[in-house]
Amino acid sequence: MTIDWRHLASCLGTPGSLWDTPPHKPGSDRDQLVLTARKAFAICARCPVQSDCRADAEEHHTAGVIQAGIAYDSAGIPSRACGHCGHQIVARNGALAKYCSSACSNLAEYQKARTERLAA
Ligand code: SF4
Ligand SMILES: [Zn+2]
Repeated sequence: MTIDWRHLASCLGTPGSLWDTPPHKPGSDRDQLVLTARKAFAICARCPVQSDCRADAEEHHTAGVIQAGIAYDSAGIPSRACGHCGHQIVARNGALAKYCSSACSNLAEYQKARTERLAA
């Protein structure tokens, strides 16, 4: 008898709310949502069945959730990497966001201004 890979998942018993890809709304506490989502990424990172889970996500066109360490937006598109730190951008409409968090957005802006100042 083959054991279903789902029975070996590290996310078994965790709250479902951890796995929803949070919506990015203007004025929402996005950084808090990002911190929550990173807990999900950390669980996936040590999951022994991540490759089965990733294949399942691709096969079933996963959307609106974090699965196998990837945040899929509401259209099922894997969120892209932050333009500053390379972490995934966690947002349902992540395609519109350039950075993963306010911290990265501020740092990128600071570094750009600094580069321009030094070049002047
Ligand atoms: S990779 Fe993540 S979402 Fe997939 S089974 Fe493991 S813990 Fe759950
Ligand atoms: Zn970032």
